[in-house]
Amino acid sequence: MSVNHRINQFDFLAAADRIKPHVRRTPVVPSDSLSEKAGVPVYLKLEQLQTTGSFKLRGATNAISKLTADQRQKGVVCVSTGNHGRALAYAAKKAGISCTICMSRLVPQNKVDAIAKLGADIRITGASQDEAQLEADRLVLEEGLVLLPPFDHPDIISGQGTLGLEVLEEIPEVQTVLVPLSGGGLIAGIAAALKAARPSVKVVGLSMERGAAMAASLTAGRPVQVIEEPSLADSLGGGIGLDNQFTFETTRELVDDIVLLTEAEIAAGIRHAYWQERQVVEGSGAVGITGLLAGKINPIGPVAVLLTGCNIDMNLHHRVIAGEDVDLANSEEG
Ligand SMILES: *Cc1c(COP(=O)(O)O)cnc(C)c1O
Repeated sequence: MSVNHRINQFDFLAAADRIKPHVRRTPVVPSDSLSEKAGVPVYLKLEQLQTTGSFKLRGATNAISKLTADQRQKGVVCVSTGNHGRALAYAAKKAGISCTICMSRLVPQNKVDAIAKLGADIRITGASQDEAQLEADRLVLEEGLVLLPPFDHPDIISGQGTLGLEVLEEIPEVQTVLVPLSGGGLIAGIAAALKAARPSVKVVGLSMERGAAMAASLTAGRPVQVIEEPSLADSLGGGIGLDNQFTFETTRELVDDIVLLTEAEIAAGIRHAYWQERQVVEGSGAVGITGLLAGKINPIGPVAVLLTGCNIDMNLHHRVIAGEDVDLANSEEG
């Protein structure tokens, strides 16, 4: 498939129109401290302030609004590390559609609680995303629910890509965009939306060192499974699906670089977001800041950093910003 063809399979402008009444236009602010550190202008897109606490509402709202009457009747199901589930539960509730969210035991309790509050049916099964997926697959097969996956779906990718359109409008001279990367729905959408308009923009994905499924898959040249481990970047956990249809190829063709971060580096990103930028950001949402702080990004400016989510357990946040050495692998939080 050609690069142009890959971009044209998504319709970002239509998605932007569709979701506009339901999502917030999040602010962009310059970061003095990161600009100084990087030597080029650095801007933060404060998408952690999105309704439901993450950008995932964009894709979920787009996908829900494209369902047929018959599908709406059946209800939707997904597997999630928490934020997609919360976004889908919110969008489904607003549209009057029943919703089931399957999660593994790794999903933090604060995220499970927020989804329960939205009235979704919750299934906690297994110790990984892949195991929770089996329950979702069963519900599709046995109860006819409609699967709306967290990343590997054109309507999800188109919705997430609307964030890229906004960045281009708000920072027209942007040269590098730093994007937290897990299954790749966000980065595929961002890269395709941005590069359709401006092929020279550099798109960099950031993941945690522990269980970075997309990075491992790109190295292997095909989707591979990784062992999922507890991480401060819990929203970046999980595989990309061995039968990945969209995000693997799109990421391979359109993403310029991938950077992996240690737990200590991610903690430093959360701390910087709080003390310097005065923002509460979850580990997954802080990895762009983290990459700059760790000196792992070649900053061609202006740089846009996407802060993608704020749904961190506030007791954990408290400990991280207080400078405690939090290692989730050796504690009960995981
Ligand atoms: C889901 C998520 C990501 C990663 O998005 P993918 O489309 O899975 O790559 C990044 N940050 C936050 C806060 C998320 O919830």
